[in-house]
Amino acid sequence: MAFIWFFNIAAHGHTNPTLPVAAALCRRGHTVRYYSFAPFEEKIIAAGAQFVPCDEYLPPAPDDLEQKVGRDLSLLLGMVADVTLAMQDRIAADMALHRPDCIVSDSLCHWGRLFAQKYGVPFVCSTTTFAYNRYTAPLMRQTPGEALAFALSLPRLHRITACLRRAGWPVRSFVDMVSNDESTRTVVYTSRAFQPRSETFGGCYAFVGPSLAVPSPDLAPKTRPLVYISLGTVLGRQPDFYRQCFVALGGLACDVVVSAGQTTDLADLGTPPDNFTVAPYVNQLKVLQRADVFVTHCGMNSVSESLYFGVPMVLWPQHAEERAVADRAAALGAGLLLSRPDAAHISSAVQAVLAGETYRRAARELGEGLRAGGGAEAAADFVEASF
Ligand code: UDP
Repeated sequence: MAFIWFFNIAAHGHTNPTLPVAAALCRRGHTVRYYSFAPFEEKIIAAGAQFVPCDEYLPPAPDDLEQKVGRDLSLLLGMVADVTLAMQDRIAADMALHRPDCIVSDSLCHWGRLFAQKYGVPFVCSTTTFAYNRYTAPLMRQTPGEALAFALSLPRLHRITACLRRAGWPVRSFVDMVSNDESTRTVVYTSRAFQPRSETFGGCYAFVGPSLAVPSPDLAPKTRPLVYISLGTVLGRQPDFYRQCFVALGGLACDVVVSAGQTTDLADLGTPPDNFTVAPYVNQLKVLQRADVFVTHCGMNSVSESLYFGVPMVLWPQHAEERAVADRAAALGAGLLLSRPDAAHISSAVQAVLAGETYRRAARELGEGLRAGGGAEAAADFVEASF
């Protein structure tokens, strides 16, 4: 039986899909060790893996983290470089004690990939976003502000890669830090039908669909449509948006569940209308099994989960990567882009999607393709075939 190491960044959206994969590998008799961070300890142990805390290797978070995350590549790659350098001695010691047969690392968790390269360990890249190459990277539309911020961050990006090179790591440019070469074995948690330009990704890519531990459905009778609203776990603190939703949907003949984010002060939102339930975090997979429309920030996991359960969407992306996901869902007919985040536009978009059979049909068809991918078990097969 094999010894498999997982590495990830400190993000729910990147960690969640890997947990059923780790669990499947453990059930098959392999030993899985997961290098991650304190907020994920419980979930990782519940999956049956060993948890190695890496919090001490993280640089301190900047005060404006929430504004920059997903929008400032240099912030992310600076963190990646810091963690790589801080962890290298620990990893050298762990390698000397018991070398793994395979390393599985998130596409943004560059340190996992570098450790695999340095020690010649078979490597699998775990991609919770779309797969990106030279054909799909341009699909991430940047706003003029984002494009300017990126241009201004280039000197910092060059300094980061120079710093890794000086420490002996084989990084030619920051592009190396965010992209795979053509032959990297890569698991992608979507279908070929939903992945844009999927014909440009060869046989070393496994499109397995969402990797979910689906909870049992809530069987209480439902008398009217359910609208679910979430802006995700990272950029969810948007009280103005939720207040606009109160105005847009309060008093309509529907129920509304809002996941307002764990950093949102619920008291600050005011009293929600009677048909609303507002919580900092909900069991999204349970809610989606009952929802009729999902107002989403278009994180890749949220959109995949919505489609998995055949739920059409109102699409309100927050940054370039989410815009690529939103554009794809809209182009395939499974959702409607929200043009402005005010009550009038939210109300008409939600009602249009609720009334539109074509949105539902497209979401259901894409969902069937996602379910057919095999999910966590197919990802575990792919990992096993990599060493
Ligand atoms: N999620 C959840 N409950 C919530 C909000 C989010 O379970 O109240 C889960 C959701 O099911 C998904 C993940 O958190 O798996 C969010 O990932 P996504 O890529 O959609 O967005 P991010 O939070 O990374 O921006």
